[in-house]
Amino acid sequence: MNVYDTNRIYDIVKDIGYIKTEDQKNADCYVINTCHIRDKAKEKVFHEIGRIKEIYLNKKKPIMVVAGCVAQAENQEMMKREPYIDVVIGPQSYHKINKILKNFQTHKKEDETEFDTIAKFDLLEKTKNSDSKVSSFLTIQEGCDKFCHFCVVPFTRGPECSRSFNTVLKEAEELIKNGAKEITLLGQNVNAYSYNLNNKEFRLSNIINELEKYSELKRIRYTTSHPVDMTEDLIECYSSSKKLMPFIHLPIQSGSNRILKLMNRKHQVEDYLDIHRKLLKINPLIKLSSDFIVGYPGEKRNDFDQTIELIKNIKFINSFSFIFSSRPGTKASKFEEPNNVESKEKLIELQSYLFQNQIEHNKKLIGNDINVLVENKIANQGKYFGRNNYFNSVIFDGNQNDIGKIVKISVENSNQNSLFGKTINKMKAA
Ligand code: SAM
Ligand code: SF4
Repeated sequence: MNVYDTNRIYDIVKDIGYIKTEDQKNADCYVINTCHIRDKAKEKVFHEIGRIKEIYLNKKKPIMVVAGCVAQAENQEMMKREPYIDVVIGPQSYHKINKILKNFQTHKKEDETEFDTIAKFDLLEKTKNSDSKVSSFLTIQEGCDKFCHFCVVPFTRGPECSRSFNTVLKEAEELIKNGAKEITLLGQNVNAYSYNLNNKEFRLSNIINELEKYSELKRIRYTTSHPVDMTEDLIECYSSSKKLMPFIHLPIQSGSNRILKLMNRKHQVEDYLDIHRKLLKINPLIKLSSDFIVGYPGEKRNDFDQTIELIKNIKFINSFSFIFSSRPGTKASKFEEPNNVESKEKLIELQSYLFQNQIEHNKKLIGNDINVLVENKIANQGKYFGRNNYFNSVIFDGNQNDIGKIVKISVENSNQNSLFGKTINKMKAA
């Protein structure tokens, strides 16, 4: 979502004459868009500012804007710790950036961290989305009302708020006109999307069904979804839609019901298995990926073993796993911190199973012909980059005319993250 937000900030500031520069040494304004989900992210921000300070040591200082969730959560604290920062602007206030930049006065600090999501959505509707990538992001929902005990999102992005159904379709049309062949619908809980108009509720499934009608659009994805919002209408889309990819990022966090309860996840392992079973019934080729947190306060060996069992059972691909990071203001930050050495060992063990699944899944594709949406030529390599249905990176010998098309690639090799191959004869592919 930060990639989407950053692009939208560019779209907004264009109105007052700012353009993106590739020349880091001569910027008038720097915007660092930040993430607060785990602790290291914050340190990266201060590190990045240190780097910028070096660049501008003997020059006029650029206006230094810190945007995003770290800005939201740490606003005054950040400015105190790092006086080089001029402006902090939260993720639901970035539509105000033009007013701030136009009125900017040296030595006057600006703090814009209101939850002004509706006003932001209004401005985004009026601002053309200039993204022209083959695969584009489109935010449809923001914020979260679920308050998992470990998570800062409800505090940094604010309450759940869905964009209007028509606005979403209008922006999708813009992206398709700009050349998008794949759209990934975004939200902190994207499948909680809910927009009411004239007593009718529009859900994520309605958006997917509408996008299906655009002939130029070839693929639809969405992320990140929550098991609780995996409703029947959405599951049904895997039967009705030809463009919805058979790969769902559906975080479970832990395979232990005891830990899920301590996390306030509002679902049990059995609910998750039930969703998996329903999806496989519709299409046995559907694959899931997940997020896992290890070393959650109170996690015992037995809880961890249940997570490993779940990983063996579901055979997730492309998952993310993290050591629990205590976040300010969350319920879990008051729990006793687990032993970090043990957590690190657990992470290595858990990842060995996840990576094994991934390696095996990719290896099985060697010798097969797969559909790849070609995104770009890789600089200085003469190779092309695209993604298969399961969102794996595919690197192959291709040609310029294929960018934006779905081509058949014969897979010759693989590793944990990528597949390697070559375009097969088009006649043969047909
Ligand atoms: N809304 C999605 C869900 O509930 O499934 C997840 C969105 S969250 C922004 C992305 C991921 O970051 C979470 O699934 C979780 O695994 C991880 N995460 C969030 N807070 C964390 C924390 N305090 N420590 C470690 N990982 C965390
Ligand atoms: Fe965070 Fe997701 Fe839980 Fe919301 S549902 S609090 S975004 S982990």
